[in-house]
Amino acid sequence: MGDIRDAGLCRLAEAPSFESRLREAVEAEQLVLYYQPKFDLASGSICGLEALLRWEDPLHGLVAPDELIPALEHSDLMLEVGSWAIRHALSQRLAWHISGLRPPSIAVNVSPVQLRHPDFVSTTCESLETVGVGTPGLEVELAESVIREEGNGHCGKLRALGDRGVRIAIDDCGTDAAHFEQLSHLPVCELKIDRPHIARITADPAQAAALRATVELAHARKLTVLAEGVETVAQRQLLRALKCDRMQGYLASRPLPAPEVALLLRRQVPNQVSH
Ligand code: C2E
Ligand code: CA
Ligand code: CA
Repeated sequence: MGDIRDAGLCRLAEAPSFESRLREAVEAEQLVLYYQPKFDLASGSICGLEALLRWEDPLHGLVAPDELIPALEHSDLMLEVGSWAIRHALSQRLAWHISGLRPPSIAVNVSPVQLRHPDFVSTTCESLETVGVGTPGLEVELAESVIREEGNGHCGKLRALGDRGVRIAIDDCGTDAAHFEQLSHLPVCELKIDRPHIARITADPAQAAALRATVELAHARKLTVLAEGVETVAQRQLLRALKCDRMQGYLASRPLPAPEVALLLRRQVPNQVSH
């Protein structure tokens, strides 16, 4: 697997030809999804997958989304690539299902550009109808900043997705209780606590206390809490003690290409209840 390039060191996206090369890459099907497992903290089993976009650039290797997404949003390609990602993730889930695996639901990151588009719900539902397996098995991850600023305006769309069985997760959350009031009006299922907050919990008792309070508030509203970017055993132990529900991070698994996810899921099959 090629190493992903450091977005901080690389300013490829600023090159004048970037947008036209990206356009060619979409046509040449060089965009791929990697999948990072989400783990249930109590049982240790995989409870979800998050699809993460990469560009297999023949010239520069694997290009990270931190460069890709702003360029896509700046061009008119975000809608096309965003709905491709939803369709592709669901098709991959169907393929795993057909090969005898029991894939968990797949979360796809959704840009505010997609959310604002009037056809967002209908195109997502079309994908579910074409390539959905039984239960929808789709989650959408929306950045907390977008929900804070525009959430009420998108309430109808989020409800329509919720009615189709799509789980809504709020990405990159802080541990500030003030934001929960607004979330309580929206059909949200999960809070994903951003990595910088998780990185501090073992060294900073105030951060651990803030997370404990967030988990309690979330549970009172029947939301699950996922810790992002878990990198150490000490963080995982503390998250269990704080009753956090789920985790993602390099400690358990990096984002993986689809064939490696299949191997991981295959190892889980004997432990799962077959339908
Ligand atoms: P995100 O949704 O918050 O995804 C988590 C990011 O943290 C991923 O970076 C993942 O590889 C990385 N990560 C996971 N565990 C760890 C860890 O333990 N330590 C560290 N240091 N990093 C970890 P990635 O794949 O580079 O994605 C960056 C961001 O790009 C994502 O952040 C998401 O906001 C955006 N993105 C990725 N794919 C898509 C997409 O298909 N559509 C949209 N709109 N945005 C996407
Ligand atoms: Ca995400
Ligand atoms: Ca995140």
